[in-house]
Amino acid sequence: MLTIREYARPQTMDEAMTLLKSNKKSQVLGGGMLMLKLGDKTIDLAVDLVDLGLDYIKPIENAVEIGAMATFRSIETDPYLKNCFSGMWSDAMKYIVGVQFRNLATLGATAYSKYAFSDPNTALLALDAELVMYGDRRMAFNEFLAKRKRRFDILEKIVIKNPETTKAAFDSIRRSKGDFAVINAAASVCDGQYRISVGIRPRVAKLATGAMAYLNENGLTPETAKTAAKMAADELDFATNLRASGEYRKAVAPALIERVLLKLL
Ligand SMILES: Cc1cc2nc3c(=O)[nH]c(=O)nc-3n(C[C@H](O)[C@H](O)[C@H](O)COP(=O)(O)OP(=O)(O)OC[C@H]3O[C@@H](n4cnc5c(N)ncnc54)[C@H](O)[C@@H]3O)c2cc1C
Repeated sequence: MLTIREYARPQTMDEAMTLLKSNKKSQVLGGGMLMLKLGDKTIDLAVDLVDLGLDYIKPIENAVEIGAMATFRSIETDPYLKNCFSGMWSDAMKYIVGVQFRNLATLGATAYSKYAFSDPNTALLALDAELVMYGDRRMAFNEFLAKRKRRFDILEKIVIKNPETTKAAFDSIRRSKGDFAVINAAASVCDGQYRISVGIRPRVAKLATGAMAYLNENGLTPETAKTAAKMAADELDFATNLRASGEYRKAVAPALIERVLLKLL
């Protein structure tokens, strides 16, 4: 059973941080969906970010800002995002559980929690997203994934550059629609610079830097896509969990990565 002893709805980021630090067993609340998955848990103080106005998707000069409380569904259906990144965001979100769930789950929670089973995190990594934490501290998502998190912190927004000039693609392999993916992959290209990320290996999403360097040097054709996909699968490590074995993931990875790369042509 989940027990929340106290519940707060701060009106400013400063108030949210003060509340969070006021109790060792406090926790930020995004959409609250992950609580569904937990067994017994007690939270002394739940700090709900719902009143902070962080549920936006805002084009700025050469970038788009996505507030931490923007839901999966708002990102999937946003008219501006549909015309950016080759419509990748819709593909990254559409198979996650169901619409009611996606109406609540937030991008900020997924990115901040570095969920290894995440679809959006693989997309964020391929797009070289930047996280903006409380106090305007900025960090590349790739760097954030490699770092230890602070005990008390709040992700405010995510910034993604070049929304209108970046081509991107996302795909996943699932045993059934609505289930967690067995593996996913995303790729992007902007100004001739390629990025490939592979998630649910089943570890947290990772860049295939060797394959990226190969494409930056040789460009993308159907032939180089095949070679780069094979290189990416060779350089990344895959392991076993209850959804699939490491061998299975490694075997299907080249086809999945090639598929996302071909969408960039
Ligand atoms: C049954 C089930 C199936 C799922 N399937 C998939 C799937 O197929 N693909 C996929 O990508 N995801 C999947 N998810 C994960 C889901 O999409 C969300 O990532 C998850 O529910 C968290 O989102 P939330 O907004 O509900 O976060 P919450 O439950 O509110 O928070 C999760 C954690 O993030 C912290 N947090 C929240 N917001 C912030 C913030 N702004 N700053 C700092 N910390 C914060 C919270 O303190 C908490 O520790 C699944 C989840 C469930 C329960």
